[in-house]
Amino acid sequence: MPTNLPIAENIAHIQQLISAAAASASRDPAEVHLIAVSKTKPLSAVTAAVAAGQHSFGENYAQELADKATGLAADWHFIGPLQSNKTKLVANAASWVHTIDRPKIAERLNAQRDPKLPTLQCCIQVNISEDPNKSGLTPAAVAELADAFNAWPNLQLRGLMCIPSAEDHDAFARMQQLFNHLKQQGFCLDTLSMGMSNDFELAIAHGATHVRVGTAIFGARETNPQPIGKS
Ligand SMILES: *Cc1c(COP(=O)(O)O)cnc(C)c1O
Repeated sequence: MPTNLPIAENIAHIQQLISAAAASASRDPAEVHLIAVSKTKPLSAVTAAVAAGQHSFGENYAQELADKATGLAADWHFIGPLQSNKTKLVANAASWVHTIDRPKIAERLNAQRDPKLPTLQCCIQVNISEDPNKSGLTPAAVAELADAFNAWPNLQLRGLMCIPSAEDHDAFARMQQLFNHLKQQGFCLDTLSMGMSNDFELAIAHGATHVRVGTAIFGARETNPQPIGKS
């Protein structure tokens, strides 16, 4: 990935790869949305991406998302693990939360979301590789949580999100099956949030509608970042 190029060129390059991957899968490239993952990167990097036409940004740390959202109006997507004492930070600053994996978090977000704002767009995080070290629900537990969204008027369930284990080569295919199965059961879902810098093209081949790309746009992250905002 040409991470040494300026941000605008990186975004244009990723957009071309997204279009090509969609075309190879006989999909409309407009169905695939790029979320630029700006975690640990300064607001100036986000501003450069906005100038290049990028609208959606992903953040992993609640305080960092809240701080950046105060500095810049954009579509902020929360994609990190969310602790219940941090829900208030993202409930009104984010437009999306991709990592719902238990009712308690959704209940808090629903209670804290300003009802005058558009509904908070949500995905259920699936631990598709059933890795004990990863967050998310097992595939079998997803339908029950999806059902519970009826009780949360300030949230809208849009779909599923995953971060597969590196060695799990058919994880995206299983996500696509789970997604289709839930839709057949009557859940109204249109979002499959999967694919990162190293695997977004494969994810698109399996139906990803939102790819979350950080390194390939903004360059490598510091291994020991200064805590812009701890989560
Ligand atoms: C950091 C992160 C990304 C982006 O990863 P890159 O490999 O830098 O593209 C995507 N999704 C989640 C959930 C992340 O935490």
